[in-house]
Amino acid sequence: MDIGTRLFRTALLGLAGNRAARAFSERYGMKLGASRFVAGETMDDALQQAKKLNDAGIAVTLDFLGESISSLDEAKTSELGYLDLLQAIDREAIKGNVSLKPTQFGLALDPAYCQESIRSVVREASRLGIFVRLDMEDSPWTDATIRMVRTLHQEGLTNVGTVIQAYLYRSGQDVKELTREKMNLRLVKGAYKEPASIAFPSKKEVDNNMRRLIRARLDSKVYTAIATHDESMIRWVKSYTKSHRIPRSAFEFQMLYGIRTPLQESLAREGYTVRSYVPFGQSWYPYFVRRLAERPANVGFIAKSLFKR
Ligand code: FAD
Repeated sequence: MDIGTRLFRTALLGLAGNRAARAFSERYGMKLGASRFVAGETMDDALQQAKKLNDAGIAVTLDFLGESISSLDEAKTSELGYLDLLQAIDREAIKGNVSLKPTQFGLALDPAYCQESIRSVVREASRLGIFVRLDMEDSPWTDATIRMVRTLHQEGLTNVGTVIQAYLYRSGQDVKELTREKMNLRLVKGAYKEPASIAFPSKKEVDNNMRRLIRARLDSKVYTAIATHDESMIRWVKSYTKSHRIPRSAFEFQMLYGIRTPLQESLAREGYTVRSYVPFGQSWYPYFVRRLAERPANVGFIAKSLFKR
């Protein structure tokens, strides 16, 4: 990554956490171009998109957006929102599960409350046969997130799992331990701004570590979601699993809603399990800005689409 791109990315990720910019943008609505990456502001919008994806052979994981809240009332709203979502997935026979962010359940405000609130969602999901993924946020929350999924797993709630980010130095050890515990993991490169003291600074090192983590998980055959749009990595996974006779039932590919849709469809046609991460809700701003930061060319794309309106 050249220095200009790196600075641009850092500035965008700084904006993701800016409260004033967030309030302004969310009031302004989806017109900023967020609808390319966000299924809509309501659950019905998301269910409609989920059905379309299911019809194309693609499973979904639904994310009711709303990270970094500032009161436990908001945490309660998230919990109720997810409980509604689980009922809707069941009622509408959606081929899908849910992803949630621990800070949306109050992790930064009251960790015990957060754990209890997530437990109630995971229990209800278990009753309905639905899987719950705890997304991984920035590094202040890594330990607490892993601790929560571990606790729930040990309580017998095996319908829960989390995410490991290849950019963190610690991830090899985390994967080793969680694989021993048969935890369902999603592997990603990592979307937040982290210092070089804890995260690989270069893309090449992150990619190399991602491959190491993927290989460790595939060899273990503990169910793994490989979440990337990186076509060369996807090609490598296809050839590695073929040559090592790793069954397709041991892993799935995941991609984000609105990104590389033809690739998602073609993998599904080839018979791979593919899951699209479908976010919805009014609190779409930080999610949207992280998508821009991943690919600065998106900023140009969004700007062009604004002028076309
Ligand atoms: P890259 O090397 O960044 O990209 C490969 C190619 O994919 C690019 O050249 C480009 O063509 C395309 N691409 C990548 N990003 C975009 C984009 N935004 N817009 C358009 N094209 C793009 N991160 C976390 O930290 N925690 C999580 O819990 C988490 N969950 C995720 C769940 C899913 C299903 C996915 C797919 C990603 C998730 N991420 C999460 C984000 C992840 O960490 C990366 O930031 C993101 O996936 C981009 O990396 P990449 O693997 O696609 O590879």
